[in-house]
Amino acid sequence: MTGRLSGDEYLEQRKKQIEANYRLITEKIAAAAKSSGRNPGEIMLLAATKTVPAALINHVIGLGVTAIGENRVQELLSKYDEIEREGLSGFHFIGHLQTNKVRQIIGRVNMIESVDSVRLAQEISKRSFDAGISTDILLEVNIGKENSKSGFFPEELKERLYEISTLKGITVKGIMSIPPICSNVAQINKFFIHLNKLFIDIKCEKTDNRTIEYLSMGMSSDYEQAVKEGANIVRIGSALFGARI
Ligand SMILES: *Cc1c(COP(=O)(O)O)cnc(C)c1O
Repeated sequence: MTGRLSGDEYLEQRKKQIEANYRLITEKIAAAAKSSGRNPGEIMLLAATKTVPAALINHVIGLGVTAIGENRVQELLSKYDEIEREGLSGFHFIGHLQTNKVRQIIGRVNMIESVDSVRLAQEISKRSFDAGISTDILLEVNIGKENSKSGFFPEELKERLYEISTLKGITVKGIMSIPPICSNVAQINKFFIHLNKLFIDIKCEKTDNRTIEYLSMGMSSDYEQAVKEGANIVRIGSALFGARI
């Protein structure tokens, strides 16, 4: 009588909207990949799941999403047991990670995308090695050299990569970045192009403990552009799940 939706109806409506969003995003990713001469199958759509309840995360996994990323250790742990891992090949950590919390996620995530210091890499290395496993990592690049963001500056990336590559229990798989907020496409493109250049550069270097294969850049507002400029992981939250409340 009030015209308000019940909890179940609300959830069903959100699921339908998410399904439509998912179709649209995969089409756009495919078009962007093709327009730059790449195979759409090479691009990993990673669902950024902060604030999203497990029921909706499981819904996108059911739709075909194969990788998810959480930002906070506490939130990850609280949802962990509810997430259906069948069909899921990537469970990534994508937020700022304090060294004293590393222990809690080792063995639960297969990749930590947000490695922003040598100290953090050392801790991931130690905890993974002690657990008898290897954790994949990406090095976060502060491409806009912003004070508000963490990550390695472009000019120190190679040196840090050499340092980190010597560590046991981890494999460096590539780089991740969150470029500055830009008001136009040309501006953001400059950052994507720079990141792709860094990616290609380090791919050519040879040392142990790394197989550089991932360039993680592009979010809801700019993932098509990122794919056109070489991204093979795009991290998408609000365009898939709707605005975060
Ligand atoms: C939240 C988040 C995203 C997704 O952001 P949207 O703009 O909602 O797509 C991607 N990467 C990281 C590191 C995030 O924290």
